[in-house]
Amino acid sequence: MTTYRNPKMLIGGEWVADGGEGTMAVANPATEKVIGQCPKASQEQLDAALSAAETAFPAWAATPAIERFRIIRRAAELLRERAEDVARTVTLEMGKPHAQALGETTGAADLIDFLGEEAKRQGGRLVPTRSATILEQRVTQEPVGPAVLLTPWNFPINLPAKKLAGALAAGCSCILKPAETTPLSAQMLVECFIDAGLPDGVISLVYGDPAMISEHLIASPVTRKVSFTGSTAVGKRLGALAAEGMKRFTPELGGHAPVVIGESADFERTVAVCAATKFRNAGQVCVSPTRFLVARGMYDRFVEEFARRSQGLKVGDASSDDSVEMGPLAHAGRISAMQELVGSLGGEKGEVVAGGSRIDGPGHFFQPTVIAAPSADSRLMVEEPFGPIAGIVPYDEIEDAVRIANSLRYGLAAYAFSANLDESHYLGSALKAGMVAINHFGVGSPETPFGGTGDSGFGSESGVEGYLGYTETKLVTVAKAAP
Ligand code: NAD
Repeated sequence: MTTYRNPKMLIGGEWVADGGEGTMAVANPATEKVIGQCPKASQEQLDAALSAAETAFPAWAATPAIERFRIIRRAAELLRERAEDVARTVTLEMGKPHAQALGETTGAADLIDFLGEEAKRQGGRLVPTRSATILEQRVTQEPVGPAVLLTPWNFPINLPAKKLAGALAAGCSCILKPAETTPLSAQMLVECFIDAGLPDGVISLVYGDPAMISEHLIASPVTRKVSFTGSTAVGKRLGALAAEGMKRFTPELGGHAPVVIGESADFERTVAVCAATKFRNAGQVCVSPTRFLVARGMYDRFVEEFARRSQGLKVGDASSDDSVEMGPLAHAGRISAMQELVGSLGGEKGEVVAGGSRIDGPGHFFQPTVIAAPSADSRLMVEEPFGPIAGIVPYDEIEDAVRIANSLRYGLAAYAFSANLDESHYLGSALKAGMVAINHFGVGSPETPFGGTGDSGFGSESGVEGYLGYTETKLVTVAKAAP
């Protein structure tokens, strides 16, 4: 049985149990039982965190890259050592199966390693000059300054890890505000950095009302960079606030990923990996495959086998059973969102062939759900479901599939399965998204950029870009003092 401790904020190097705005309850989404109380930051506490970030920034930015790297690498080692406990807390707070929580945690350690190493690799560059009188043109990447990091609950370790590691590697101080539902997971990650020797004030950690906190922190002149992962609607609002202060902004927002399945695709392998990936983290993944566009020749078989596999998934309380394959949704609001989406179907709009309902009893459980032939104007084909619902649509020509895939303003991830080399090449070029994966779903490695286009946001995290996003470019050019 995992024990839960009440989260504490970290402000200016001090762990703070009392929230100036009181507390908020944290509940296990599988049982709906309250497991702890989390402090809510007041504006005065946010100001203290801002002041700590401002004070700590110059010294951290001036710390030699090798020293920053050593602390960041040690934090990754500590996260690996603590991975089992951290993963149990993730499951308790947001419900994902233990194996997925563990994979997220060790994967986050790899991300931290990669981004920490970037501190050593980024040396800037010298640009050849146009004239013998110009002695040097040196381009460097300077840390942008204190960064505000706003993260959601669906990957409560991975998402803060990539923001924190990128910011710290670049030499920025930062203030992290994790989701209201997953505070202790974020705290356990931050503890790894603190125990690794990070100086006081370089990270602050605050919890509470998301709108109040983000608006207060973004409006402060101390803040120079904002990184947000969450919904498109909130991302647009925060982007407008960041623009008012001319602050760098990296939004990683929603998606509605298409999967184009060509007639040459290996049927058994494709349907197996599609069904397994769809219901990973109960579909609460920004790059979750959601719109399956299947060549008409295999469409009926695909729907039938996908539905069969979804009905065979073991759904339950992952905090008490490690064999559970799909846990609850993160909170009650996600259940009503799923019910509304399914309620908008039927008739011409699409047929429910598996699931479709909330599972009775305590906990925010929803059945793995498969919808056959949702119409192009159905809500399911237009709005990001962010839950365990898959829409499957037949197509006749590959160009039709690409047209449907590219028809939304989202552009985060897109996938395709094909054994035909020409078709794979065509799909890789024609699908409009920040990330396209052919014959697999792997778009989240530490070394590669992760980000979208259109309503899915801009900029990338992880990869070299995950470091560069916390820097600004500076040119120093030196001419001869006299001819
Ligand atoms: P929600 O918008 O209420 O909350 C999602 C996250 O955004 C939470 O972590 C919350 O703390 C944060 N948030 C909300 N308002 C904020 C504000 N004004 N300032 C700063 N942070 C704010 O929605 P929800 O029902 O919890 O989640 C589902 C929606 O969120 C989906 O539509 C999905 O697109 C989006 N989401 C996206 C990701 C992602 O990885 N891109 C992750 C989680 C949620």
